[in-house]
Amino acid sequence: MLDDLNLGVDWQTLDAAHHFHPFTDHKELHEQGVRLITSAEGVYLHDSKGNKIMDGMAGLWCVAAGYGRQELVEAATRQMTKLPYYNAFFKTTTEPTVLLATKLAEIAPEGFEHVFFACSGSEAVDSAIRSARVYWKTIGKPEKRFVIGREYGYHGSTILGASAGGMKDMHRQGGDLPYFAQVLPPYWYGKGGQMSPEEFGLYAARQVEAKIKEIGADKIAAFIGEPIQGAGGVLIPPSTYWPEINRICKENDILLIADEVICGYGRLGTWFGSDYFGIKPDLMTTAKALTSGYLPLSAVFVHDRVAEVLVNETGEYYHGFTYSGHPVSCALALKNIELIESEGLVQAATQKGEVLRAKLTAALGDHPMVGEIRGIGLIGAIELTADKRTRKFFEKNGRVGTICRDFCIENGLIMRAVRDTMVFSPPLIISDAEIDEFVVLAKKSIDQTYEKVKDEVTV
Ligand code: PMP
Repeated sequence: MLDDLNLGVDWQTLDAAHHFHPFTDHKELHEQGVRLITSAEGVYLHDSKGNKIMDGMAGLWCVAAGYGRQELVEAATRQMTKLPYYNAFFKTTTEPTVLLATKLAEIAPEGFEHVFFACSGSEAVDSAIRSARVYWKTIGKPEKRFVIGREYGYHGSTILGASAGGMKDMHRQGGDLPYFAQVLPPYWYGKGGQMSPEEFGLYAARQVEAKIKEIGADKIAAFIGEPIQGAGGVLIPPSTYWPEINRICKENDILLIADEVICGYGRLGTWFGSDYFGIKPDLMTTAKALTSGYLPLSAVFVHDRVAEVLVNETGEYYHGFTYSGHPVSCALALKNIELIESEGLVQAATQKGEVLRAKLTAALGDHPMVGEIRGIGLIGAIELTADKRTRKFFEKNGRVGTICRDFCIENGLIMRAVRDTMVFSPPLIISDAEIDEFVVLAKKSIDQTYEKVKDEVTV
């Protein structure tokens, strides 16, 4: 059907006329014309002009098992045929929903026996924050409403998600609800000054403590943070950061929400980012790789100490979505988790990540414009800098990153630019040969970028 439609359709004109895109400057898009992705397999995308592009971002950090997995298609098809939809309201449930909740409780860190389902990361964040507030209300502390996050944090695009996050442009366009505050992110490369990473990790964590003092612990419901800040530029906290955050949240009686929407399901070489960093969350939000992006689904993990209150004391919890626990998404997610387990993709993330970073460092470590190559598992970043010895960035932040991103796409590689930081998170099934290709294309693109801006680089 779609193949028939392909013939003679002017996709760019129709898209420009009718499709209002997410996170897009439409004037710019219409001048350039939209790119039409038509098919994909493994780590590669194909567009309507016949280009084959390596997807170094796994879509939007989500296609963990790679494209074209028939097992996932079949699992969804089987469930679609048997029971395409039923909801989880009014004392009902469906088989895949129960099985998935059970499986997730098995792979979660200790103490997470309950899972709430939604459709997107944003809905998961919204649900986690509501759960935190309902928890405090139930135990007689309704004034605990504030949520503290970090600058450059990303927690989704609903009004609440944008308010919880630390993206200034999103705040400016209406994502600025009351009862939210942001503090310094643990971004040593960009913000650490003369401190060592370990000193800076403690310093950044103590900014949370200072904000708690300023607002008053009795008014704060939760702290929310991504184990690694993905959309903010793959900001990897120094080793001292999360243990200190654990302490601060515990001592001040504040719930800790780990936003695992990117880190969850293997990307760091552990099931969850909280496992990697030893984070002790009360709530964990997950989505994306839960279904490898094939269908929308998110899951909020509720720790027993919170679940006990919500389950036993709250009474009816007035919250939920038409598609919470959707049977087809859950059936697909079950198969996806099975693939991640049977193909050892969690362990592969560690091993492949080490290979990728070693090869990137060999190819680009001495490059005059590459200030840092960092990563954990299969998520990472390359800092493009004007002076790597002093960690000085380029004028007009984001300009050089955009040049590099455009060269990448021209060369057949998708990497994303966050300011002048190139970020990547390829599918976990990436092969050794594909890692080699990734490194070649990344180097070529960075070399071409350097040719354009080298007058601005101190060597
Ligand atoms: N939290 C984090 C950490 C994310 O990275 C994202 C999406 N990139 C979200 C929440 C929002 O997820 P969604 O786009 O599915 O609403």
